Amino acid sequence: MKQTIFDIQRFSVNDGPGIRTTVFFKGCNLRCAWCHNPESQRGQPEVLFYRDKCIGCGKCREVCTSPEHCVHCGTCEIFCVQNARKICGKAYSVDEVFREVRKDAALYRNGNGGVTLSGGECLLNPEFCRQLLTMLHAEGIHTAVDTAGNVPWSHFEAVLPDTDLFLYDVKCMDPAVHEAYTGVNNARILENLGRILDSGAAVWIRVPVIPSVNDTHENMAQLRDFLSKHKQPGKIELLPYHSIGISKAHAIGKEQSVFEIPTQAKMEELEQYLLQSTK
Ligand code: SF4
Ligand code: SF4
Repeated sequence: MKQTIFDIQRFSVNDGPGIRTTVFFKGCNLRCAWCHNPESQRGQPEVLFYRDKCIGCGKCREVCTSPEHCVHCGTCEIFCVQNARKICGKAYSVDEVFREVRKDAALYRNGNGGVTLSGGECLLNPEFCRQLLTMLHAEGIHTAVDTAGNVPWSHFEAVLPDTDLFLYDVKCMDPAVHEAYTGVNNARILENLGRILDSGAAVWIRVPVIPSVNDTHENMAQLRDFLSKHKQPGKIELLPYHSIGISKAHAIGKEQSVFEIPTQAKMEELEQYLLQSTK
């Protein structure tokens, strides 16, 4: 079994406890307007082209191994001295990912970290996740799954036994706003969130704060009301919007909306409101 992976990021400190390696799966079934990894959305490999770096030397065309139909061989990336081309996505077997992430096993132990499966939406390929998580657990490595939750419940069931922590993204509580900005309704996402909380699994909720979309007391109050009906998450993190996805969206020929960056004061105010009301 193969899965397209677009990055294996070592020394990650933002994807769960301690020092971790994060494995980014390619392919997602949400289309968040603020996505910071838009190159993760399509399941297939693709070439990122940074127009602002290109000097038009034509070397990439000269060396291209398949001018009619890109086969993502990576030759043009190697020959582009401007770093204007980057292959995004490579097919890995479970063993190949395992061998790669296992190299830092000592670091995970010393840094109370582990391995996080992310994306994209890693749970679109539950069997790949299950096999990898099982192998990691057999080595005593802490495991986390970062998900937006828009998958059948059976996909969670497949990974539950070997997942130590779920990082669960909650974009927005209002179904219509959620659909307008992500392309999908949030009913299944919230149903799965309730089920995973009530299963007793360790869950950290992560909310990207996007001004003019979900940075309101109303949204926080709806999240609070939802959580009051379930077992409590270990943590709720509010993550400020940043515009890192825009240049990557352009590199794959897409436009991306621009939002304001929330102020520190706004983040603290929302955090206080949410945390006070969920105590
Ligand atoms: S090799 Fe790089 S700099 Fe030269 S034309 Fe191709 S993308 Fe542009
Ligand atoms: S990745 Fe390979 S096939 Fe695709 S454009 Fe570059 S050289 Fe050509």
